[in-house]
Order: sequence, then C-alpha cells, then structure tokens
Amino acid sequence: MQDRISRIIVVGGGSAGWLTAGVIAAEHSIDSQAEQPFELVLIESPDVPTIGVGEGTWPSMRTTLQRIGIAETDFIRECDASFKQGTFFRDWQTGDGDTYTHPFTVPIEFAEADLVPHWLGLKSAPPYADAVTPQTALFDQCLAPKQITTPQYAFVVNYGYHLDAGKFAELLRQHCTEKLGVQHIKANVSQVNTAENGDIRSVATDSAGEIAGDLFIDCTGTRSLLLGEHFGIPFQSCHEYLFNDTALAAQVPYTEDDQAIQSCTHSTAQTAGWIWDIGLPTRRGTGHVYSSSHISEDEATEQLLAYIREIAGDESAASVAPRKIEYRSGHRQEFWHRNCVAIGMSSGFIEPLEASALVMIELAAGMIADQMPATRDVMDIVSKRYNRKFLRHWNQIIEFLKLHYVLSNRDDSPYWRDNHTATSIPEALSEKLTMWRYRSPWHPDAEAVDDLFPTASYQYILYGMGFVTEPRHTASHQQDQRNRQAAELFRKNAARAAQLQQAMPSNRELLNKVREFGFQKL
Ligand SMILES: Cc1cc2nc3c(=O)[nH]c(=O)nc-3n(C[C@H](O)[C@H](O)[C@H](O)COP(=O)(O)OP(=O)(O)OC[C@H]3O[C@@H](n4cnc5c(N)ncnc54)[C@H](O)[C@@H]3O)c2cc1C
Repeated sequence: MQDRISRIIVVGGGSAGWLTAGVIAAEHSIDSQAEQPFELVLIESPDVPTIGVGEGTWPSMRTTLQRIGIAETDFIRECDASFKQGTFFRDWQTGDGDTYTHPFTVPIEFAEADLVPHWLGLKSAPPYADAVTPQTALFDQCLAPKQITTPQYAFVVNYGYHLDAGKFAELLRQHCTEKLGVQHIKANVSQVNTAENGDIRSVATDSAGEIAGDLFIDCTGTRSLLLGEHFGIPFQSCHEYLFNDTALAAQVPYTEDDQAIQSCTHSTAQTAGWIWDIGLPTRRGTGHVYSSSHISEDEATEQLLAYIREIAGDESAASVAPRKIEYRSGHRQEFWHRNCVAIGMSSGFIEPLEASALVMIELAAGMIADQMPATRDVMDIVSKRYNRKFLRHWNQIIEFLKLHYVLSNRDDSPYWRDNHTATSIPEALSEKLTMWRYRSPWHPDAEAVDDLFPTASYQYILYGMGFVTEPRHTASHQQDQRNRQAAELFRKNAARAAQLQQAMPSNRELLNKVREFGFQKL
C-alpha cells in the first residue's frame, strides 16, 4: 500500500503522551518483523518536567485502563489511587456555606423519565441530586462505590479515580514499554524537519539523532512544540468567558493514619476562584485556581492556607509550600494539522473545575486508535472529522464550566460580578438558560450522541444551584399518572440510598483490602 501510515512518533511523556501511546499501541499490535510493521516511538525530554498535576478523572478512565490492559488492582496499588464518585461544591451559590453535588450516576430511570418537573413540585424536597440518585448518600460518610467482591472495573455505583499524576505516568511508561512494545527515547527535540509536501518529515534530537515518522503526536505540554511552535496554529483564548489563569498546588498530609478518604472532589469557591481538595490514600492534593487579574498571589496563597488550616490544622498549613502554575485559558484553533495532532496541554487547557482534561486525552487517543488513517490521503479526511468533533467538545467545556459561574448569586467581589456581565457569557449558553426557564434540559437538548457532558450533568448543576424552571403545562390526566410514577421513583431511590449506606465499605477499608487481596479479574 502506497504511503501506508506505520510509524507513529509521540513527543512528550506526561499523562497525555503515555495515555495516547498506550491506547494506540494496545489497539495496533506493534511488531517490526510483521509483513506490515507498525511502530510507536515516544520521545521524552530528560530536562523538561511534566506538569505534575491532574489528579481527578472521569469514569471513562476505567474503560481506558481496561483497553490498555492494566489490571485495576495494579493501577490502584501503583498510583495511590482512590475512588471518585463526583464533585461536592461549597460556597458556589451564596458563599455562605451552601452546598450541592454533581455525582457520576445519572438520575434514576433517566432514559425514560425527566424527574425535574416532579421534583420542583415537591413540598420540602431534598436536594435534587439526593432525590434522584442514591450515589450522594455515599458522599457524607466517605463510602466506596463497590465492594471487594465486585470484579475489577465493575461497579455498584459509577466511579472514576483520584490518582497521583507522577506515579500514573510512571505506571503507563512501564506498561507501554514492557508489555505493548512502545519504544522510549529520552532526548530533547531540538528541531522539526519539513518534508516537500509541508508535512513533518522528522524531528531532530540532541542525543538520539533524527527520528522520522508518518504521524506525529504533539504531547509537549503548554509549549505545543509541533502544532503551536512549528506549524503556528493560533491559540484561541477563552479568557473573556473564564477568567482563571493561575493555580497554587499543595500536598497536605492526613492528620491521622486512618482518616476517612473523601468519595468525591471537593470544590470550595473563594472570592476570585475556587479550591480543589482531592483525597488519595496517602495524602490530600489541594490547590487554589484563581484569576490573577482579580486577586494577588499573596491573597490567593493566604486563602489556600486558611483552607488547609481548616482541614488539616496550623502545623500542616505552616509546612506546605504551594507550587505556582500559570496557564493560558483556551485551545488551539485546529488540533490536527497535516500529519501532526496535538493532545493534552499542547491542544489547550481551560481549568480543572470538572476535570475534563484527562477525559479529552482519552477521547483523542481513542479516536486516533479507532480511526487510524491507513494512508496519507485518508489522514486528511480523518483530521477534518477530528477537528470538527474536538472543537465541539471544547465549546461545550467552555459553556458547561461557565454555567457554574453564571448560576451563582455571589456578588461579594469584582470576580463574581464580572462573571455575570452579559459579554462574559457565551451566546449559546444564554439561549439555553432562557429556554430552560420554561422546561428542564433533557434528551432533546443533547447536540450529539457523544456530547462530553450529558444533559443529566446540566440538571445536577442547574438544580443544585437553585435555578428556577417553571414546568410546562401537560394534560392533567397525564400529569396525575406521571406524578404517581415519579413519586414511586423518588421512594425507590431513597430506599436504595439507605440500603447502600448499610452495604458499602468505607473508601479506606476497600482500598486497604485491594492492596491486600486485589479485585477479581473477570
Ligand atoms: C492546576 C491544574 C490542575 C489540573 N487538574 C486536573 C484534573 O483534576 N483532572 C484532569 O483531567 N486534568 C487536570 N489538569 C490537566 C492535566 O494535568 C493535564 O491535562 C495532563 O497532566 C496532561 O499533561 P500533558 O501530558 O499534556 O503535559 P505535561 O505533563 O506538561 O508533559 C509534557 C511532556 O512533554 C515533554 N517535552 C516538552 N518539551 C519537549 C522537547 N523539546 N522534547 C521532548 N519532550 C519534550 C516533557 O518532558 C513532558 O514529558 C490540571 C491542570 C492544571 C494546570
């Protein structure tokens, strides 16, 4: 076959580089002796460190790890991973101790029933998420989403992970090089060489010579060495909508060895940003993401330290040294150009509010593995489809993240007031909010089958934050029947929540058992 695509070069060895290499290598067996050989080389700088954050995943990570061929027990043991069942938000609505949750499980019977209109009609209703899913009942007591007898990657309630980013990249490296045949070169890419047709022909390195390939995957982090620097694909800022551009990250020790491990990421709003709090078995990862135009670094640090004092005491707060990470909020205008595709931070980053970066890497790697262009001609068709799809995903991320800010009633600082100005709200989001005043979002609002955020997620944020929908009118005989069905579903959900609270072990108990015995492999 002419122009067969058979040699893939990944540049960058952070989570993006290794996840991408793993997903592609697992799908396309690597064998240089085969009649039609397929090779995958990952080049990683020995000098440029990885970003070292990115500790919250979506449930999709279970599928990705399975696809790569990593046992869940090994993953949990090697990456200090714990179970994440969603996000717990505090102080987002009023700043006065208000709370709500965004769990990973969709509302009960979501395929068939939209429970929002019925929930809105309840007298003394529980919070929306509590009324429609049993998952949130596990949050308060830090309970696990499964039992030790549940097979690996299966669940009782849906879950993703919290993990140690450095250990994760190391596990992936080991697995990719030892089990999947990925070649690993430690060298700095110093130059990009162009072919006659304008493609990348090869990259020159400082210590491993020139490395040629058919498809180059740019996982070089925010530098975006191939797509951004070499091809000059412009960066599309979204700072006008989402103002955060700086993070202060800190690791916080537990105060007791057997302290409970949270079941979800905690996100606590501040005067010019928010603080994340992620529980691993060995420590907590915290950080303050904020807008540098709205607060000084000293003030932002003080807010983070005040939070750490509250959760871990004065001694811990005195011992941490937060690490500052600055970033541009936005994405490249195009992600796949000629024979080069950018994945991870090199393609863009907005903010970690809904942990959407790793899932975008998983989706990108999955699409490349599934639709690996057979020839150079086919690559131009696949890249067009890829760019369309990923632009849609980025636009949805911008809208969905902005939703959290738009719905807030806070006006205690310029940051929150600026977040409410009409020009800071994407037009498509304003239109949706206008529609949803009269009916709740449900399946008709999905734009594509592979939307990143399902309409269930919109429901959790909207009604968690007190959005008011005036239900549409329905013929009364239908309304009675639907109300009866809804009442039955609310009752069923409450019973299931009570049952799970009795049955599920704590996160720490389950993680200790996984370390000792491991999960069953199906
Ligand atoms: C504050 C913060 C919090 C985050 N939290 C989350 C979260 O909870 N969930 C989530 O999904 N995501 C999160 N992210 C995003 C997540 O961290 C990244 O998407 C993920 O780590 C992937 O990074 P990367 O591999 O693209 O880049 P990096 O980790 O920066 O890796 C870049 C790689 O490129 C290599 N490189 C650079 N230059 C060269 C060169 N010249 N030659 C060879 N190699 C080179 C480097 O050595 C490195 O190996 C967060 C990001 C930030 C900033």
